[in-house]
Amino acid sequence: QVDAVGIGRDFGSVRALAGVDLTIAAGEIVALLGPSGSGKSTLLRILAGLEQPTTGELRFDGRSQLGVPPHQRDVSMVFQHYALYPHLSAQDNLVLALRYGRGMSRAAARARADETLRMLGIAELARRRPAQMSGGQRQRVAIGRALATRARVVLLDEPMSGLDAKLRVELRVEIVDLLRQLGTTAVFVTHDQAEAMAVGDRVAVMNQGAIEQIATPDEIYDLPATRFVATFVGSPP
Ligand code: ATP
Ligand code: MG
Repeated sequence: QVDAVGIGRDFGSVRALAGVDLTIAAGEIVALLGPSGSGKSTLLRILAGLEQPTTGELRFDGRSQLGVPPHQRDVSMVFQHYALYPHLSAQDNLVLALRYGRGMSRAAARARADETLRMLGIAELARRRPAQMSGGQRQRVAIGRALATRARVVLLDEPMSGLDAKLRVELRVEIVDLLRQLGTTAVFVTHDQAEAMAVGDRVAVMNQGAIEQIATPDEIYDLPATRFVATFVGSPP
């Protein structure tokens, strides 16, 4: 379980996060929805340990995570632009993450990488480097790399931006299936309201560094807490 309490983050005079409270149950998928600049990536990076909050507390299963470096947190992250190593094959991208991120032996990492690529239906890409793949294939590999570690918490920052609409729907169904299969706790960032509603057990709507409302997709749509939420998710007046 993830507990974020009063998380604030300033960059100089810019207040990126203005006191975010967020509790996520084990195995839950929360979609983080909000306009550009609302603080989604900053919050995700703080959960991952890539960024330190200016204020607030962060606990995983009751243990404070402040000062715990990213590789010692039970998290993995999928970035907006894949961030795969260009000189390594798909298989080696996964193997590297497992050996250095998880301390697995070469053989165990290889087996886990192959199993994960199979689960994602891309076993045939194992030997290809990113330049030899389509955008959708690269994104599948990047998702595979995050899931292969079997981290308890997976953070996805707009994992499907840049893909066409049909592929986005296909891929999001696969991602959600896999997260459920593995019982992973996940935060899925998007600025697409239909995507957030389809993916999240709950949807958190962010605006100007704060969560305006967090609720099930139906509640967000039927009972928006603020005018901003209503407008952003397109609720009927
Ligand atoms: P987008 O949908 O465009 O990705 P976002 O919701 O992810 O937006 P953030 O990237 O979290 O937004 O940024 C929130 C605010 O913090 C913005 O005003 C941004 O300019 C500012 N910000 C983020 N990172 C930094 C940084 N390293 N230095 C200075 N300002 C930053
Ligand atoms: Mg962002």
